[in-house]
Amino acid sequence: MHLARFPRVRFAHLPTPLEAAPRLGEALGGLNLFIKRDDATGLAGGGNKTRKLEFLAGKAVAQGADTLVTQGAIQSNHVRQTAAAAARLGMACEIILEARTGSGAVDYNRSGNVLLDHLLGANIETVPGGSDMTAALERVAQAVRDRGGRPYVIPGGGSNAVGALGYADCARELVVQADAMGLKIDRIVTATGSAGTHAGLVAGLAVIGADIPVLGIGVRAPQALQEANVFKLALETCALLGQEGRVSRDRVAANCDYVGAGYGLIDEAVIDALKLAARTEALILDPVYSGKAMKGLIDLCAQGAFKDETVVFLHTGGAQGLFGYQGELEGRLG
Ligand SMILES: *Cc1c(COP(=O)(O)O)cnc(C)c1O
Repeated sequence: MHLARFPRVRFAHLPTPLEAAPRLGEALGGLNLFIKRDDATGLAGGGNKTRKLEFLAGKAVAQGADTLVTQGAIQSNHVRQTAAAAARLGMACEIILEARTGSGAVDYNRSGNVLLDHLLGANIETVPGGSDMTAALERVAQAVRDRGGRPYVIPGGGSNAVGALGYADCARELVVQADAMGLKIDRIVTATGSAGTHAGLVAGLAVIGADIPVLGIGVRAPQALQEANVFKLALETCALLGQEGRVSRDRVAANCDYVGAGYGLIDEAVIDALKLAARTEALILDPVYSGKAMKGLIDLCAQGAFKDETVVFLHTGGAQGLFGYQGELEGRLG
């Protein structure tokens, strides 16, 4: 794996810390738990999209683009980090937000990440839930071209092989850290959504020959679809790295039993997970991704999974989205 072959811009604070979480581990029944702090990547609040955007924006710069175009749910962390990347690079940013959860709440629609998108200077259009977002991206890119601009289109979540390079690099970074600490990792647990994070990790681990199992906890799609998406993207990422076919299907595992009522919809178990992480380790998780992944980790541990294992939970960020859920959380954090 030789990532200097790929264009990249540097705005992440790397390496992110790998920290022990003994109080949370104890609460999970004695798990030897570590947290990989990708909430601390540093770009306008940080989160996992920053690593992907280093390669995506790198390619945009290499192509001479002047506008980043992307899409996401209303409270998308990916959109906020893309708007931040554009600001850092002096580019324009065109955003399409999908009203995916159907929430009419003012905080969901105006606060949290949305407020930051505006602050960062992005131009924002909102479309109804269920819209064809790929077509919408192409429509906006064409509008940029029509007025003489040079758009670079980033898919939802930054999840293509170029973006996933950021998580292949994270896999390498994590293994280097663990080796320096003398820490033998038995498993990595992460939220998995648009699949780039999970796929990049699996691809990176395979390419460097560190066969640590990765469990993705799904936030949207059912298991068969999620695993298929991750596997496909992991293969594409290996191919981009010049390591065709290095990932086998059995390296891809997702548990999608914790989605609850749907993407971006929270329940008591998610709130309990947010509270537990905050009150044991001062970790601020998010309601859509890392909080749902922690909900899954808590339940799986309660069922006796991961006994005697050293687990690294990837904190993918997203705390900024909490403020979009103020009304829903108020009075429920006791
Ligand atoms: C996007 C996101 C994820 C999921 O990552 P994918 O690469 O889309 O699977 C997890 N956590 C947070 C906070 C995110 O914003």
